[in-house]
Amino acid sequence: MKKEILKNRYFLFPLFLFFAIVSAQPAPNREIPLNIPFILDLHSDILTAIYKSRTLAQFENLKMHSSLPHLKEGGINAQFFAVWVPPGYGFKRADSMIRLFYQMLDNYSGDMAFAGSNKEIRRNCAMGKISALLGIEGGGEAIGADINNIDYFYNNGVRYMSLTWNKSNRLADAAMDKRKPHNGLSPLGKQAVQRMNQLGMIIDVSHASSATVEDILKLSRDPIIASHSCCYSLRRHPRNLTDNQIKAICLAGGVIGVSFHRKHLTAKNKATVSDVANHIDHLKKTGGLACVALGSDFDGDIIPPVGLENAGKLSNLTKELVKRGYSEEEIEQIYGQNILRVLQKVVDERPQK
Ligand SMILES: [Zn+2]
Repeated sequence: MKKEILKNRYFLFPLFLFFAIVSAQPAPNREIPLNIPFILDLHSDILTAIYKSRTLAQFENLKMHSSLPHLKEGGINAQFFAVWVPPGYGFKRADSMIRLFYQMLDNYSGDMAFAGSNKEIRRNCAMGKISALLGIEGGGEAIGADINNIDYFYNNGVRYMSLTWNKSNRLADAAMDKRKPHNGLSPLGKQAVQRMNQLGMIIDVSHASSATVEDILKLSRDPIIASHSCCYSLRRHPRNLTDNQIKAICLAGGVIGVSFHRKHLTAKNKATVSDVANHIDHLKKTGGLACVALGSDFDGDIIPPVGLENAGKLSNLTKELVKRGYSEEEIEQIYGQNILRVLQKVVDERPQK
């Protein structure tokens, strides 16, 4: 009997050792201890919703994708707010939306502050405030026929501008428009690009036709951005960028903000966080990590991916990227540092207006 017990003990010891070793290994589904210190999103359309509803409280509405509580929850440190000027509207609408943007900042001054440069973003971060930046979507509509309006918008804080939205206009041809009257940039569009370069306003090629993107890349002295676009080779949508465009934007030092719109991400009925990561993978593979950024297009009449329903859910994307082997440093680059590099070069280091 005594001998029998002894035998069991010898059997139990290796078993104990085995469990001790296994339990010391990290669990596969552990919480990711990542705390990305700086996150910037290139494109939210919540300003349009606030403009249409005529109430600033929309900025606290949890149904909106990029309302203040969601930005806070997602750890967003800086947000570009789009001033969307659709066809049929013009300078007045752009100007009213900019006034509204500053009203919003006054109203939420405890949480947010304007930023028009990398330096100002750093100042706001030090104060623990979210930086609010301005971009115009539909420049041809916003400036009308007067190039001097670009100066006006710059002086009112606008730091990027796309020349078109979905319709070709007097500056350039649009991706979604069958009519391509200029085969790229018009003579006025070329002047606009040159003026933006002189001022230090970033050129946004989201919504531009292929020929427009090509013309801008040829003409612009500065890096350019696509504030909310995805990859054409993963999803054949006219709004998406071809591999050659991705390479050219990256080579010129620019960035591409991955859009979270289901229609830009996939042909399926539902997009997932994994689809967003696929586009990030493809941008990294094609153009290099230095050109990858976030451009959610939240509140821009989009259908967001499952698991990324609003800005507060951004950690789900972080988890997916960690799962795919992205390092903390790489995620920091994608989530903000790449855009800061462009802002630094185009805005902060502008020698003379
Ligand atoms: Zn858009």
